[in-house]
Amino acid sequence: EGALYVVATPIGNLDDLSVRAGEVLGRADLIAAEDTRHSARLLAHLGIRASLLSLHEHNEAARVERLREAVAAGQQVALISDAGTPLISDPGFRVVRELRDAGLPVVPVPGPCALVTALSAAGLPTDRFLFEGFLPARSGARRNRLEAVSELPVTLVFYEAPHRIRALLEDVGVVFGEREVVVARELTKTFETFLSGSAGQLVERMAADSNQTRGEFVVMIAPAAERARETVASLAAEQLLTTLLEE
Ligand code: SAM
Repeated sequence: EGALYVVATPIGNLDDLSVRAGEVLGRADLIAAEDTRHSARLLAHLGIRASLLSLHEHNEAARVERLREAVAAGQQVALISDAGTPLISDPGFRVVRELRDAGLPVVPVPGPCALVTALSAAGLPTDRFLFEGFLPARSGARRNRLEAVSELPVTLVFYEAPHRIRALLEDVGVVFGEREVVVARELTKTFETFLSGSAGQLVERMAADSNQTRGEFVVMIAPAAERARETVASLAAEQLLTTLLEE
């Protein structure tokens, strides 16, 4: 029977590819990959020769049909992205949706994911968190999104690119003030670093050492404080009471 395997690949350290992921990629009839040249290198490293089909933001809609037909015809198809878990700030949603709607098997092969990797070692609460992916590139829109989630009693998680990390932290400073922020950089790679402090302190660290602005980043912000939470709760209660009294 055909199936689509959604396979997580390393986010830096190639040894993080699971044994099962290697097996699934090794026997796949077709591998749909975000950047086929990038993935060809990973597959060469694993000694795997398979046919690759590009699947990215701009052609996903057009590729869906082709992949559905391949799986319906009994092929073993693997879906990978450039790094980590497909569909997590990466292409694949439409394909998975379409195959599920068609009643075809979709099988996850779990593995590395930058947000989970970052949370697991940041020292911030992990019982509740909100993953917001990449924020808008423009500062105004970015601040609006930050403000919208600033009073939630959950750890906030964002992805960011090196050319915007300082701008993001500056906006975090404006919205969150002294709230603790942890920046996880280059996870599983040689220059893996965790920095923590207020956004302002982290901006200073980066200004003092430009190496700290290189690479890939996960930015995490501590939950809104208990006191702020109580204020929000008591405000809500007050509003309810007012409404009830009015009625
Ligand atoms: N699908 C991937 C996953 O499972 O994490 C995420 C893909 S997204 C296009 C790329 C972003 O993930 C980067 O800009 C960065 O924010 C984050 N990221 C990926 N690898 C990372 C790493 N080794 N260290 C820190 N952040 C990483």
